[in-house]
Amino acid sequence: MGKSRKNERGHTIKTFNLLNLGAGVQSTVLALMACRGELELHPDHIMFSDTGNESKATYKHIEFLSGEFEKADIPFTIVKTPGIYEDLMSVMDEGVREDSKLSDLRNKVGNPPLFIKYHSKVKEIEVLGGRKYNPNILLRTCTSYYKVDPIYKELRKVLGMGYRERYQRNWECNKMLGISADEVYRVKESKHKWENNVYPLIDIGFTRNDCYNWLIKNGYSIPPKSSCVICPFKSDRDFARIKEEEPDEFEKACKLDDALREKTLPGTSNGIVYLHRSGKPLRDVEFKTKEDSLDMFINECEGYCGI
Ligand code: SF4
Repeated sequence: MGKSRKNERGHTIKTFNLLNLGAGVQSTVLALMACRGELELHPDHIMFSDTGNESKATYKHIEFLSGEFEKADIPFTIVKTPGIYEDLMSVMDEGVREDSKLSDLRNKVGNPPLFIKYHSKVKEIEVLGGRKYNPNILLRTCTSYYKVDPIYKELRKVLGMGYRERYQRNWECNKMLGISADEVYRVKESKHKWENNVYPLIDIGFTRNDCYNWLIKNGYSIPPKSSCVICPFKSDRDFARIKEEEPDEFEKACKLDDALREKTLPGTSNGIVYLHRSGKPLRDVEFKTKEDSLDMFINECEGYCGI
């Protein structure tokens, strides 16, 4: 376990280095570098939060990584969370009242960044937490619900923390995130005093391209983009890959997309909801694979999805 230091009052603070694995290119490089002892900061633990809706290719990649972590003797935990797909389906199956709001979803499901076409020209709508938000894309709560919070819960267990124990009394945590130098706009400070977000790839000036080159140079295969199969942030290229290589997973995503319009998700009765940004049913979309279509993970600053 990490080092200790004395704070200004002479109190001993233990440090813990946690590497958040997203299982995409950048966080894979970060984790493999750690296994090879190439990072200044060595992780005490690696965690991956599983929403239950990753592609088969990602699960296979995690199996490979898990073997590498074992060889390098770095503890690894796959944090299982309630499945995002099942949660969304069941909340729609329960049925909702006409006037129900997105906040009715709280504690039941983390809301993905779904696209909505409003029936009327609504400029702003009230969404979860009472904030006003621009139409077209619904507020995303899935990353916190399925990725961030479960990791914090697991971290408390790993650190052996009591029910009411406060982190900042005895611990500080360096959270290692796989954001690369070309995505520096995703960098943000932790909300917690006891936690520092650290970005080792940025520190060594590694861009996404450098990550690809590093993987090739060291004989590793390129991991698939990691994200939920149903994720509306996905690029067309990724949707097309799933459709081609994992048709059963794609069909599941289409079923969820159909259900969004056949049933009602709380807070969306004033519009028509879609998984794809084109505002078309997913099964009818002709994915633009020639050009590099918009990858909306640039909106994901938690450092958990799509890296
Ligand atoms: S991958 Fe997409 S749907 Fe899944 S948790 Fe992240 S933002 Fe939400």
